[in-house]
Amino acid sequence: MLAADFLHLEKDVRMVNACADLFHLDVMDGTLVPNISYGFPVVEAIASLAEKPLDAHLMIVHPEKYIERFARTGVRYLSFHYEAAGEDSGAILDRIRALGMKAGLAINPDIPVETVFPFLEHADYILVMSVFAGFGGQHFIGETYGRIRCLKAEIDRRGLGTLIEVDGGVSPANAAALADAGANILVAGSSVFRAEDPAAAVAAMRG
Ligand code: ZN
Repeated sequence: MLAADFLHLEKDVRMVNACADLFHLDVMDGTLVPNISYGFPVVEAIASLAEKPLDAHLMIVHPEKYIERFARTGVRYLSFHYEAAGEDSGAILDRIRALGMKAGLAINPDIPVETVFPFLEHADYILVMSVFAGFGGQHFIGETYGRIRCLKAEIDRRGLGTLIEVDGGVSPANAAALADAGANILVAGSSVFRAEDPAAAVAAMRG
């Protein structure tokens, strides 16, 4: 939703209701990442009209402070960054799950993917950033394919059901290759909201 038209948010929420599977909400604090996006008033407004699950991606320091509030807002998928939580990541993932949400751990492109291996049992999904967190509209980083394959191999080796979400520069042009590498959830912003036919862009990626 970072690429949505905030002057006509209702129109974009209805478009997502009609053609996509999730609302991905990028929450930035200007400290963990060099940008500020939006907070609870916007998330709550989207929640009031959303017919698909809300997937909140917290790019903030101290994500543990806001878990209950996101749960009350109706968020179903909640992820935060390893860079923000470090070795506390497992405990935070457990708290997210205890509140009935799916728990996700996110990493930027410069964090070795092996860093999240100790937390795989605690996570419902790993969010692999394919651009640096903080801005929409960036170009996809090609090394992401290898990182997804490496993560997927470890998940399979341990017999886990952890999903892989990819976020940043995702479009119909790379969706098939991402799925082949092992990605389960594709987050697309500009390539959908800036498309002449957003529903066709989503359908192309699902295909
Ligand atoms: Zn995101």
